[in-house]
Amino acid sequence: MTAYELTGPVLADDGVEHARAWVLGERITYERPAYTEVESVSGWALPGFVDMHCHLSVGPTGPVDGDLVLKQAHVERDAGVLLVRDTGSATSLVAIEGRTDVPDVRSSGRFIARPKRYLKGYGVEVEPHELPAEAARQARASGDWVKIIADWIDRDLGDEADLTPLWEPQQLADAVAAAHAEGARVTAHTFATESVDALLDAGLDSIEHGTGMSEAHMERAAAAGIPVIPTLLQIANFASFAAQGRDKFPRFAARMQRMYDRRYEQVGQMHDAGVVLLVGTDAGTSIAHGDLGREAAEMARCMPAADVVAAATWRARRFLGAPVLAEGDPADVVVLDADPRAEIGAITHPSAVFLKGHRAL
Ligand SMILES: [Zn+2]
Repeated sequence: MTAYELTGPVLADDGVEHARAWVLGERITYERPAYTEVESVSGWALPGFVDMHCHLSVGPTGPVDGDLVLKQAHVERDAGVLLVRDTGSATSLVAIEGRTDVPDVRSSGRFIARPKRYLKGYGVEVEPHELPAEAARQARASGDWVKIIADWIDRDLGDEADLTPLWEPQQLADAVAAAHAEGARVTAHTFATESVDALLDAGLDSIEHGTGMSEAHMERAAAAGIPVIPTLLQIANFASFAAQGRDKFPRFAARMQRMYDRRYEQVGQMHDAGVVLLVGTDAGTSIAHGDLGREAAEMARCMPAADVVAAATWRARRFLGAPVLAEGDPADVVVLDADPRAEIGAITHPSAVFLKGHRAL
């Protein structure tokens, strides 16, 4: 059997650093294996990255399925992303189910939205009173997460159009309870301020984007241990959303521009408030798959790089109940040329990637 010796350092977990490690079969070990050929791999080794907000069934021009889903999963893998939380499918992930050459995927089923209140053709569209039953249905389908679109522009308001909540607070609370009863967790897309209290009251499990969160919301999320995935690559698009809407929807445009202008300040405030922040790219459409390094670099503008490294690795893995790099854990390992805590850009170009012990890069 050939083993790989990771010459280290190995950043295995929060505050856990080893001088070296070995990839033996599908597992990581800190005991030098006997009677095997050993191939040496040098560099900083970390648990595989986690993209907490990714859409494997959305490509550059919209929904995709089949081989394109597989191709995007391979792009993520080769960028060192070995665990993906798919935060809403536009089609299905059946093309990658049961495969061993793709990242582990935590599914959220289909996006849940209302007619005319999300990107056309992406989600399951239901009337507000149907939300709890649909949340239960998607929970059973995914077996893991449910993704609810909490707010979106309401174009029916004409030149008064703005971001508004899709659901009544009680409908959200019933939906979260229904998903929890099926053993699933719930996350929600929110850009607006107006939907956040209802989401927190409903007891949801994470928040996507969170651009509208007030300081009081941040304090509540921090106290409840509810993580936020800031998706700064996506928020960088808000200036163009504002420009597109300026003539027809001035209120919406002004709000999007304001959130764009203060995006780094917003994420910095969340960090200072003690909110758990995790790394998610929102890959699909305008954001390319395999871009976790760029999102991490954006987050490092708002918080210490060491926190971003934790957010992209062990912190996200613990939140999802996935292994890190303890003795005997699956060898899902990324090797970098430099210590990413000192040089966050190192995340962008792994020099080696091991998926369950198999060298993928
Ligand atoms: Zn998304």
